[in-house]
Amino acid sequence: MLVRNFELPGALSSMRSLEDRFNKDYNYDWTFLNDVPFTEEFMEATTAMASGKTQYGLIPSSDWDRPNWINETLFNIRLQLMEEKKVLYGGSKSYRNMCRFNSGYFFRQELLERYDYYFRVEPDVQYHCDFPYDPFRVMREGKKKYGFVIAVHEYEDTIPTLWDTVEDYIDVKGEEDQIDMDRNAYNFLTDISVMGSIMPVIDANSDYNLCHFWSNFEIGDLNFFRSDRYLSFFEYLDSKGGFYYERWGDAPVHTIGASLLLDRDEIIHFDEIAYTHAPFMTCPMSYFMRLDQRCQCDYRSDRNVDIKYHSCLMRWWKNGAGKSFLKPI
Ligand code: GDP
Ligand code: MN
Repeated sequence: MLVRNFELPGALSSMRSLEDRFNKDYNYDWTFLNDVPFTEEFMEATTAMASGKTQYGLIPSSDWDRPNWINETLFNIRLQLMEEKKVLYGGSKSYRNMCRFNSGYFFRQELLERYDYYFRVEPDVQYHCDFPYDPFRVMREGKKKYGFVIAVHEYEDTIPTLWDTVEDYIDVKGEEDQIDMDRNAYNFLTDISVMGSIMPVIDANSDYNLCHFWSNFEIGDLNFFRSDRYLSFFEYLDSKGGFYYERWGDAPVHTIGASLLLDRDEIIHFDEIAYTHAPFMTCPMSYFMRLDQRCQCDYRSDRNVDIKYHSCLMRWWKNGAGKSFLKPI
């Protein structure tokens, strides 16, 4: 969990929920990361809440702060423009550090070196049902490298040149980084194959349909993110400065990285995990699943995003993993 000291109540609330619904039976370790030192109070309270061991890391400034090759004048102009346009977090400097850190640095923190998988947790989230399995085991046994629960559309104003940059990256590095268009989930990122179907088509200015796995929940393979291929992808994007001159989020960056570099069968949608991070929620549609997993969520709620217009889950079913089921026998 990347978290700030003042978010302690929200951190405890998320921990309580995940411990009750899952971790009390498994006692996996908790790792907390922060760009400033954690307070004693934070460490004591979270250690008391955890069923597993806890560890606390201070992120080095080189992994967090704005690099000095970012042009300060241009950066400030862009920041102000985005603030005026009322882009979400458009005027925030620290939010940009956070997004770049989550895109390219969290998996390289020393405290995570001895782990193969991570489960990202944020303050103030909820898990509404008992986990019917250990998702880490599902990942390992199913050879999965990226897992999500919610997929939605990104605000285009935060990433005006991201897709152009991705296309350049594919041209320049695609071969070296072994991008396999036959096996990856590229189709999930574009609507070209959706035309003519009943799928809502989002009016984006590029071929990118703005779909992204909502990265405040993610379970992933750290060795994928630490691989030369992902790092090459991240470094290419980072070198264009868009984390600062625009406001590229870690969600579209992880999503595009995973969708280009992984086999689409290596990405998993955890259908059984019910979750809320405001403003969205996901809750199993199946009545028996909800009873079996002692769920506390209303699948009819407006917050349940799964099959709403702004959700990308239908696209995932059709163009992501689902594609392997749709192949003619
Ligand atoms: P949102 O989910 O996009 O609205 O953004 P959040 O405010 O939830 O931030 C995403 C995650 O990064 C959360 O786990 C926050 O606790 C964490 N975070 C955001 N900004 C900072 C920061 O400046 N320092 C630290 N240590 N954590 C941060
Ligand atoms: Mn959040």
